[in-house]
Amino acid sequence: MNHAVELDRVTVSYRENIALHDISLTVEKGAFVAVVGPNGAGKTTLLTLINGLGTLQHGRVHIFNTLLTTRTINRIRRDIGYVPQHVNIDPRMPICVYDVVMLGRYPRIGMFRNPSKEDHRIVTGICERIGITDLVLKPIGHLSGGEAQKVSLARALAQEPRLLLLDEPTANLDPRAQHEIKDLIEKAYERDRLTVFFVTHILDHLPLVCSHAVLLKKGTIVAEGRIKDVFTRARLTEVYEHPVEPPIMNKEALNA
Ligand code: ATP
Repeated sequence: MNHAVELDRVTVSYRENIALHDISLTVEKGAFVAVVGPNGAGKTTLLTLINGLGTLQHGRVHIFNTLLTTRTINRIRRDIGYVPQHVNIDPRMPICVYDVVMLGRYPRIGMFRNPSKEDHRIVTGICERIGITDLVLKPIGHLSGGEAQKVSLARALAQEPRLLLLDEPTANLDPRAQHEIKDLIEKAYERDRLTVFFVTHILDHLPLVCSHAVLLKKGTIVAEGRIKDVFTRARLTEVYEHPVEPPIMNKEALNA
C-alpha cells in the first residue's frame, strides 16, 4: 500500500463542539494536498489529528500504514514536520535561530542527548537552503514575520520528515515573502519527495505543484480529489457562501 494518510470515519470534538464529523480520507505518498475551507471548517483540527495530537471520539487514523495509537505515536511523529499557524515568541526568549532549527532534530536525537556532527551538518545545510544563514545567531524573538516563517519551515525540514503539515504558512506575509515561502516549500517537496498538506483559505497562495485538494465545511469533507475536479467555481462559491474563482494552478496559463 502506498498511503501516507488514511482516516477512517473519524470524529473529533472539543467538548460538545464537533470539529470534524465522520470524515474518511486516503492520501497517497507523494501527494501535495491543499486543505481549503472557510474559517472554522476544521482545517487546523485535521492537521492536528494527522499530527497525532487530536483526541478521537470515533474512527481510526493510519499514517504510513501504521495505526496511530499511544504506543505508535512517538515513532510516527518522528516522520511528521509541522509548521503551525501562529508562533508567538516572547522577544526576551534567550534562544537563537540556530537552536530553534536544531529543535527539529530532537525527535531523532532523543531527549537529553547532544547533537552529533551529522546533526550540525544537517542544520547548517538547511539554513543555507532556506536562506537564513545570516540570521543563525539572532534571537528568535527579533525576526520579521517572513523570517520567522522561514525559521519555522527550516525547523520542520531539519527533522527530515516524510510528511510535512503546513498551517497557513503564507498568512500575514507581504507578496514577496509569500512567494519566497511558496518557492521554498515547492523545492523541499520536489527535492525530498515529501507528502505535503497545505492549509489555506487563500487559494492564490497555493504552490503550483499542488496536486490534490480537500474542501472542508463545518467539519465535513465537501469534496476531495484532483485539484481540477475539486476547485470548481460553483463548489467554491457554495462552500464559501461568496463568489470565489478557482485559482490558476497551471504554470503555462500563468505565463500566458
Ligand atoms: P481557521 O481558518 O479560522 O483557522 P479552521 O478551518 O482551521 O479555521 P479549526 O481551527 O480546526 O478550523 O476549528 C474547527 C472548529 O473547532 C471551530 O468551530 C473552532 O471554534 C473549534 N475549535 C478549534 N480548536 C478548539 C479548541 N481548542 N477548543 C474548543 N473548540 C475549538
